[in-house]
Amino acid sequence: MPVNNAIADQAEDMRQWRHFLHSHPELAFQEHKTADFIAEKLESFGVEVHRGLAGTGVVGVIRGRGDSQRMIGLRADIDALPIHEENACEHKSQHSGVMHACGHDGHTAMLLGAARHLAENRHFEGSVVVIFQPAEEDGGGGKVMLDDGLLTQFPVETIWGMHNWPGLDVGQVMIHRGASMAAADSFDIKLTGRGGHAAMPHETADPIYAAAALIQALQSVVSRRLNPFDAAVVSITQCHSGFTHNVIPDEAFIQGTARYFNPDLGQKIRTDMEQIINQVASAHGCSAQFDWIDGYPPTINDAAAAERAALAAADVLGSGSVVMDPPPSMGAEDFSYMLEARPGAYIWLGAGHPGDGAMLHNARFDFNDELLPLGASYWVSLVERELGTGG
Ligand SMILES: [Zn+2]
Ligand SMILES: [Zn+2]
Repeated sequence: MPVNNAIADQAEDMRQWRHFLHSHPELAFQEHKTADFIAEKLESFGVEVHRGLAGTGVVGVIRGRGDSQRMIGLRADIDALPIHEENACEHKSQHSGVMHACGHDGHTAMLLGAARHLAENRHFEGSVVVIFQPAEEDGGGGKVMLDDGLLTQFPVETIWGMHNWPGLDVGQVMIHRGASMAAADSFDIKLTGRGGHAAMPHETADPIYAAAALIQALQSVVSRRLNPFDAAVVSITQCHSGFTHNVIPDEAFIQGTARYFNPDLGQKIRTDMEQIINQVASAHGCSAQFDWIDGYPPTINDAAAAERAALAAADVLGSGSVVMDPPPSMGAEDFSYMLEARPGAYIWLGAGHPGDGAMLHNARFDFNDELLPLGASYWVSLVERELGTGG
């Protein structure tokens, strides 16, 4: 089945919804108008709507034929980013400093398109739960929906996600039988020395000198202590200290992020960093405080689910268009929490090559509308494969 014909017929509707969402972007947990729009659309399709999970989350339940109790979940993220849009298109953001620069407007429109088709045809058994999740970019709305009882209220057996992927040809998908996106933790380091006159450094314990040595030393965690086949990143992203030319300050602050796929590796990075921080600080007569902030866990697909997702994608795009097990991304994604709770798969849907290089999170990014019927058809194909059509 190439693009589902009935879905191709509603491509223009999806485009209009996507453009409306694009011009009315809202940040994490503030997606009130977005949620109203989604709920209104779902209701107009005859879908049972539940609101309030994670505040602005919207869940729709579409019951198929027969009396099967089986249930699967399809998830789209709905939030925008704190970026001022530089596009001049008609549907550009009307909210200054906020923009859909990650394509969540498109994800939402594709899932709405699939929901309408599924509700109109009900050509499947069991139930489909469409999950419109707030706060993917910041705040972990996926986890908040779980904490608010998503899976107790809607006990889906599997859960599925998708992200548009610029840099990959339109009509291609990438699917991992395992890790797809990294964990994203962050850390704060405070070095405390003894400030004093910059002309008399021997009377001080200089935290800036210690910080400079520490930044160098921390790069040895990945380069010297991890197996080269274990992918990981330690990036220092902030360093603050001092206030004038002739004073050595008391303190220096360093912040950064660590990315990895294997939780044991994350623990090792943390332990190794702690050791290096304490010893380098001590070598420079300073003391150190190290705080680790857990972020999104790694996004790990279930291998068998990934293979079934590949079959559903091949239904729409052809088997030659499915790339299995490409290198994962060091980016992160809060769908990871849902995949920790239920088996499923998160796929990358090729979004083509933006002419001006405007990739995800760029002020000139705009979701590629060509994907709307492809993504919606994938959802329908996945539902029919997972739940069956009753013959
Ligand atoms: Zn993003
Ligand atoms: Zn995104």
